[in-house]
Amino acid sequence: MPAFRTSSEAETIAFGERLALDLPSKRVVLLIGNLGAGKTTLAKGIVKGRGAAQPEDVSSPTFTLIHEYGSGVYHIDLYRLDEAREVETLGLDELFERDALVLIEWGERFPQFLPAERTEVRIRALGDDEREIEVREIA
Ligand code: ADP
Ligand code: MG
Repeated sequence: MPAFRTSSEAETIAFGERLALDLPSKRVVLLIGNLGAGKTTLAKGIVKGRGAAQPEDVSSPTFTLIHEYGSGVYHIDLYRLDEAREVETLGLDELFERDALVLIEWGERFPQFLPAERTEVRIRALGDDEREIEVREIA
């Protein structure tokens, strides 16, 4: 899929909504990008597209680590974890087995815990409001 550009938070949410329709019901999706790139914003759109929650009810799971939305959508943020043994306690393997969409911010920091089959979404700031989004299916 070619890189896509958005010029506002709303456009990124709309992109996430469309992306949600292309994703299978069971899939691990890494949201990759710097702080403030728009990973959580994209998650809002994907969750909305799944009909699991409204964007305003989706917040960053930075402190809670895992948020569960209805209709089989999980949103995880590993930013605050430093060590593999901390990640182990989350039981990601069990989550990955569920018939669910699992969105993960900062998951690429712990590649040993990731399934071989996953979708990687990269988001990069080009300016204050411009973002470039790339979607890649792995396996
Ligand atoms: P991350 O989760 O990657 O740290 P957030 O989604 O929490 O990033 O924050 C992105 C910030 O960038 C928000 O304040 C949002 O309003 C702003 N922003 C500006 N333009 C865009 C855009 N095109 N797409 C997404 N976010 C944008
Ligand atoms: Mg975030």
